[in-house]
Amino acid sequence: MRSWSAPKVPKLPGSGLPLRLYDTATREVRETEPSGKARMYVCGITPYDATHLGHANTYLAFDLVNRAWRDAGHDVHYTQNTTDVDDPLLERAQAIGVDWRELADREIELFRTDMEALRILPPRDYVAVTEVIDDIAEVIVRLMERGATYRIGDDVYFSVAAAPKFGAISGYDEETMRRLFAERGGDPGRAGKRNPLDWLLWRGERPGEPSWESPFGRGRPGWHVECTAIALRHLGPGFDVSGGGSDLIFPHHEMGACEGHVATGEWPFARAYVHAGMVAYEGEKMSKSRGNLVFVSELRREADPMAIRLALLARHYRSDWEWTPDRLTEAEARLARWRAAVARPAGPDGAALLARVRERIADDLDAPGALALIDAWAAADGDDASAPGLVRDMVDALLGVAL
Ligand code: ZN
Repeated sequence: MRSWSAPKVPKLPGSGLPLRLYDTATREVRETEPSGKARMYVCGITPYDATHLGHANTYLAFDLVNRAWRDAGHDVHYTQNTTDVDDPLLERAQAIGVDWRELADREIELFRTDMEALRILPPRDYVAVTEVIDDIAEVIVRLMERGATYRIGDDVYFSVAAAPKFGAISGYDEETMRRLFAERGGDPGRAGKRNPLDWLLWRGERPGEPSWESPFGRGRPGWHVECTAIALRHLGPGFDVSGGGSDLIFPHHEMGACEGHVATGEWPFARAYVHAGMVAYEGEKMSKSRGNLVFVSELRREADPMAIRLALLARHYRSDWEWTPDRLTEAEARLARWRAAVARPAGPDGAALLARVRERIADDLDAPGALALIDAWAAADGDDASAPGLVRDMVDALLGVAL
């Protein structure tokens, strides 16, 4: 599927530092050590509604990863999916009386426009689930051959009992797992399951629902195995970063990692599991069901996208925080100060600032720390005539903000 267009990334003098990231699975900040290509998979949207600030916050975090790796000299292979067939999409399409494909196309196009406006570097592979049904079926066949599946009627389930690493990503206890599984699209109470946490790999055809042929009957794929199949196809096992919002830790990333492990025999499926925090609004996590979404496309009508980007960068990617309109006002003021500062004929030492900003970004993407350093540079006077140009390029290349 078509991705979106890439902004030009200036090449900075010297080289960035090795990037260290917090890995949810091992619960520590560790150096990423890409061998050759740096491979990253970030879970994409289910295109039934417009991009909200929570999405933007997540994709921005992984955009910083992408930019830091490039600055350190890596060739980055970035893959993202879009879940263009799933229950929420079909339910929404039916509720508003629109064909599900039409709804998906419309929302994917809006997502592309939002990502472009925010200057998020596009994935190399932007993959719709409906494009790769055969690849997904192939992974399910491999899981069947390894005895990891069973059927309930026309549906195919993955058996937790076949996954020796189950729990390794989230570290959650059984009770937490069951609660989150029920909250996030799972079906712990379904009759006929061997274990409440067994999950759906393939949903047999239902009247009125889209379906595809497969070696195990007509139907459509479950959520987790989609990402597993796409990551295996484009990146292979043992890729460097599997990313998404922290609400994907369980069940999505836990179950995907087990599928990858059982299908390939290789562990870990991803070398680091990296998660962005949740953005709240009016006291609660932004979500469709609570109706408290702030859409990027609406915000863009009144604000410079670079100010939106700066407002998000002002909070560390792993923290949970609340959006308030004054965050945008603060970001607009910062953007104006930085633009004035790089328009000066000279400023304080630019190379020294670049070295310190690189340190902050390499330290688990400390964007707020980087912003503070640039604020201090912009507020001080100096006689380095090359500094304003260098700082403009640095802010563009590392933070993605065009001044
Ligand atoms: Zn995913």
